[in-house]
Amino acid sequence: MNGLGDRRLPVDHHLHIPLCGHADGMPAEYVAAAGALAGVGFSDHLPYLEPAMADPALAMSWDDLPVYLGGVRRLREESDTPVLLGIEADYFPGQESRLANILGELPLDYVYGAVHWVGDWPFDDSRHRRRYEGADINKLFRDYYGLVAGMAASGLFDVWAHPDLPKKFGYRPAEPVYDDEDVALEAVAAAGMVIEVNTSGLRKPAREIYPSLGLLRRACAAGIPVTFGSDAHRPGEVGHEFKRAVTLAREAGYRTYTTFSRREKVGLTLP
Ligand code: ZN
Ligand code: FE
Ligand code: FE
Ligand code: ZN
Repeated sequence: MNGLGDRRLPVDHHLHIPLCGHADGMPAEYVAAAGALAGVGFSDHLPYLEPAMADPALAMSWDDLPVYLGGVRRLREESDTPVLLGIEADYFPGQESRLANILGELPLDYVYGAVHWVGDWPFDDSRHRRRYEGADINKLFRDYYGLVAGMAASGLFDVWAHPDLPKKFGYRPAEPVYDDEDVALEAVAAAGMVIEVNTSGLRKPAREIYPSLGLLRRACAAGIPVTFGSDAHRPGEVGHEFKRAVTLAREAGYRTYTTFSRREKVGLTLP
């Protein structure tokens, strides 16, 4: 991966494959779709630590984890496109030490930290979308940012995935929740974590990249580095709207972005 003077679109760090139960296409097809990108990285869903939460439609099984790791490493060796090995792990308060033990054993380039659940509500799961009706949306966002702060404070994650995810289905807080966002931003900055510009929101009812320009501006001002992901769940989504993502990052004040090698940050110039 060539840094200075690289005019290619950023590395897409956020690719899923069918092991998670809700993606399509062969891993090699995702790599072949990299086109004008500087590289790709896989970050499929780590199995849930709580056996009762195991859901073949949400995450790979523990039996599949070595298949995933070996498959991505093989692709890395075989392809001319740079291929990174990441994972997307859910944050749940109380699971920190178990998760630390698991992540410490894996040969990963980076770990996405994701909050997909607020309490017992998997708020980004379309099967539970009806729970938005009558829900306190401000509270959902506030609770979400509180969990993000806890996630950052755990020190277990490299990247804050899809930063304002509760807007996915188009619900937004009636009034801004800046204070709660600031608590999350401060914790993310203190942890040395990176914020993701994730284009999948454009494909959802939110019709907007995660995060909003306003939140990304404040992340930049707080000194939080930025990275990029499409959250592709099929090969045709690799690098989706990355020009737009770069434009957003530049508008927010960024001139460089971050990729990873063996859980170390690597800085690259934004095209
Ligand atoms: Zn997924
Ligand atoms: Fe996610
Ligand atoms: Fe994802
Ligand atoms: Zn995700």
